[in-house]
Amino acid sequence: MESKRFSRNKEDFKCRNCGAQVKGTGYTDHCPRCLYSMHMDVNPGDRKAACHGMMRPASASADRKGFFTIYYVCTKCWAKVSCRAAEEDDSELLHKLMSSSSRHWPAA
Ligand SMILES: [Zn+2]
Ligand SMILES: [Zn+2]
Repeated sequence: MESKRFSRNKEDFKCRNCGAQVKGTGYTDHCPRCLYSMHMDVNPGDRKAACHGMMRPASASADRKGFFTIYYVCTKCWAKVSCRAAEEDDSELLHKLMSSSSRHWPAA
C-alpha cells in the first residue's frame, strides 16, 4: 500500500516546449532536455498553483558541491521560481544558463 501522506507525484508528462516525453521521478517536474518547467507548485511538490503556465529557465547557479539551481520565470504570470536541477538535466544547457547572466533574475 502506498502512503498518501506525501505530496510527491510521479506523473509522466510531455514537455510543452520541446515535446520530449519526460519520465516523472516525483522530484522533478521540468524537462531534462530544454529545462522548461510548468508553473504547478506554490511550494515544491504541492501542485497548488492554478497558473499552469510554461516556466522559462532564466539562469542557473551551482553551489560548491556541484548542485545546480535553476531560476525560472513563468511566461504567463511572471512568477519567479527557483528549483534544484535534476541529475538527468542537460548539463551543457545548465552551463550555458550559468554564463548567460550575472544575475539570477532578468530585469522586470
Ligand atoms: Zn522540453
Ligand atoms: Zn505562472
